[in-house]
Amino acid sequence: MTCALVFALLATTVTPRAQTQEFDLLIKNGHVIDAKNGVNAVTDVAVAGGKIARVAANIDPKLARRVVDASGLYVVPGLIDMHAHVFYGTERDAYLSNGESAVPPDSHSFRAGQTTLVDVGGAGWRNFGQFKEQVIDRARTRVLSFINIVGSGMKGGPVEQNLADMDARLTAMRIKQHPGVIVGIKVAHYSGPEWDPVDRAVAAGKEMNVPVMIDFGGHTPPLGLDDLLLKHLRPGDILTHTYAHVAGRIPIVDDNGKVRPYVWEARKRGVIFDAGHGGGSFLFRQAVPATKEGFFPDVISTDLHTGSMNSGMKDILNTMSKFLNLGMPLNDVIKANTAKAADVIKRPDLGHIGVGAEADIAVLNLRKGKFGFVDIAGGKLLGDQKLECELTVRAGQVVWDLNGIAAPMWTDLPRK
Ligand SMILES: [Zn+2]
Repeated sequence: MTCALVFALLATTVTPRAQTQEFDLLIKNGHVIDAKNGVNAVTDVAVAGGKIARVAANIDPKLARRVVDASGLYVVPGLIDMHAHVFYGTERDAYLSNGESAVPPDSHSFRAGQTTLVDVGGAGWRNFGQFKEQVIDRARTRVLSFINIVGSGMKGGPVEQNLADMDARLTAMRIKQHPGVIVGIKVAHYSGPEWDPVDRAVAAGKEMNVPVMIDFGGHTPPLGLDDLLLKHLRPGDILTHTYAHVAGRIPIVDDNGKVRPYVWEARKRGVIFDAGHGGGSFLFRQAVPATKEGFFPDVISTDLHTGSMNSGMKDILNTMSKFLNLGMPLNDVIKANTAKAADVIKRPDLGHIGVGAEADIAVLNLRKGKFGFVDIAGGKLLGDQKLECELTVRAGQVVWDLNGIAAPMWTDLPRK
């Protein structure tokens, strides 16, 4: 038999099945919110080979090996958390850089609809290799990094005060080795009177065309928030902990309950404001007056670590729900953690579910009822809507299924 004939025979036996079931997964009748591709409607999403294969109404369920009914649910791109701490390890006194205050990414991501977590500042240029080997390469979650301007990373205490370990050139060199994985530079916790940590991070950011994220405050004597936002940062750079009121940092809302004019000005010039909830950085006393004026965050993030996960923050959906109940429209809340976040970290391949994109999808339930949301001071805000994650798909694989909407009935499983 000739090779050609063998191929012809194979083709006739394989083709009909391939034609009837061209999709691995079909999510039907969900309300798709995909800001980047301008989709905001009830439609179907089909996945094949780990990628988005088709987004259209009335896709025939016979074409898919697995069908999920998402009626009444929202189907959105896998959420991006732009501020998390996942460089976990067992080094003593290492805080968020191979220490026990950071958490394993897969233990928190998928259950909250997140497919990408960005660790901000855990690793510096010295220990990024360890972070990659120990966490990034082993997680199912896509883990990206804002590398710390401190070469040793976020180990707390005097390590983070060492100006001599903040090197723009070496930081840029490390970023060059991991394009698209190291997506920014973090500055945090420095308490001296100098601008050097910020300015060196911006210098490295300029060289590598990546943004910097600043956790600002605690300087003795204090440094001006206006100077940071208007003089030191570039458009596209990020202030995190937007709604914090911590010692040594001027809050964005003044004593009369008004967002400071220079904060508005900074937004106009393109500075990005990240929620960065955390265990000490989100106060309703700031967020309520700010959002009343329309000052919502550009991106909503958790600042996930062991000090925030069991307090008012809880997870990304609880954090996003706070802004929903503060009046931020659902579309904007979803966009903040998908298309906008991808834009800020210059990863245009992420945060959308256009055909050909990696199939990272979250199926969310917007529950209506009576809910309470707690801030870092322990104060409660009542609300009537809350996001919950029903299903998460990472690169085409179902990685979280709260109520088994993608699972067959147990009675339909084959007997062993
Ligand atoms: Zn943080």
